[in-house]
Amino acid sequence: MSPARPLEGARTAAAGEATPVGAVIPIRAEAAGGCVDAPVLRERGQREVFCGLTGIIWLHRKIQDAFFLVVGSRTCAHLIQSAAGVMIFAEPRFATAIIDERDLAGLADANTELDRVVTRLLARRPEIKLLFLVGSCPSEVIKLDLSRAAARLSATFSPQVRVLNYSGSGIETTFTQGEDACLASLVPSLPPPDADAPAALLVVGALADVVEDQFARLFAQLGIGPVRFFPPRHASDLPAVGPNTRYLLAQPFLADTARALDERGAQRLPAPFPLGVEGTTEWLQAAATEFGIAAEKFDAVTASARQRASVAIARQRVQLAGKRIFFFPDSQLEIPLARFLSRELGMELVEVGTPYLHRQHLAEELALLPAGTVLSEGQHVENQLDRCRAARPDIVVCGLGLANPLEAEGMTTKWAIELVFTPIQGYDQASDLAELFTRPLVRKLRLAA
Ligand code: SF4
Repeated sequence: MSPARPLEGARTAAAGEATPVGAVIPIRAEAAGGCVDAPVLRERGQREVFCGLTGIIWLHRKIQDAFFLVVGSRTCAHLIQSAAGVMIFAEPRFATAIIDERDLAGLADANTELDRVVTRLLARRPEIKLLFLVGSCPSEVIKLDLSRAAARLSATFSPQVRVLNYSGSGIETTFTQGEDACLASLVPSLPPPDADAPAALLVVGALADVVEDQFARLFAQLGIGPVRFFPPRHASDLPAVGPNTRYLLAQPFLADTARALDERGAQRLPAPFPLGVEGTTEWLQAAATEFGIAAEKFDAVTASARQRASVAIARQRVQLAGKRIFFFPDSQLEIPLARFLSRELGMELVEVGTPYLHRQHLAEELALLPAGTVLSEGQHVENQLDRCRAARPDIVVCGLGLANPLEAEGMTTKWAIELVFTPIQGYDQASDLAELFTRPLVRKLRLAA
């Protein structure tokens, strides 16, 4: 693909420089390379993160005929019910098969119990077409082999129901890895394309339906297609994948899924992630370049959405420019968010922590970060708290467990998990994304007044 091209109206702007409302956002031109080769502080210590079960909350809404059966403890059940909030009052598409003391003591055959639970569930819910058995810490402790259970149950219930498994265990993981594990488990089920099928674009990563529809419209207007989204909204609508598949990652936490797609011959289109005007434009541009779309057409299709988003972001920039932000490692969205907040909102990056740094998938993002940005990978919560307290940033992005104590110390926080639950990708959501950071700062100012 072609190197990232500067956006219309790009110019250098110092952090803190005020931008009049209504102006096109000035995108800062960084020195070539940005943070591509920047040193990274590797942290290994105590973690404060949610486990991969959390992904069920957005995945069960996305794949509308799938069911997620966690094989875990009452703690696991409590976690997803709390995280799902009001969903427990509806007929949910997730549940927990509780491993109790008898299972843990080896007094009951967990496989027999699981078969019984699944049989009862599928008899009661005939609309389920795809069942995920989701492993947890307890199922791993008792070494319950869910891949064998899934194969056994698939043989029993196919072709009506496909049964797959993945791990959402919290041991050494972070919460967005649940989606990665889920999608990676689904890749072997994707059909091969027809021999004479044209090159197709696959957008990989769960997006809110409204965002997916906006991107589908833009791709159609650009003349790029066929375009498919993965995961699909229905289990029966799995996209084909093969050597003529080109894919764009819509989320930065899908390393295992990308590897599985690569093994099927698909080719990733390197691009920044579609956050903000710049990220969205470069992400779309990667597909446009691959599919031979003329620059004039690209500009004509995207110009009004870019302009609209730039104007909307400029209002948020008035509040955010020059503010100092500190990221604890949590969602794996930290680096694309830092790029957006620094380049389009003029925020100053104190430290950008990420649970894992996938240099290949994040190469385009790292190149756009301001040179000299402090990057850290992994977690040592005590060390990071010390650095955060010493820096006294204007806003801290962190997990729920750290937010309340930091607020009590007088800091302003933003929950990282909210950024995964909220539609933030694309032009029409760029201003909403910025506002997620403006709101806590404005609230703090009001409380102080
Ligand atoms: S999978 Fe592990 S970390 Fe997650 S809720 Fe269950 S016991 Fe806790």
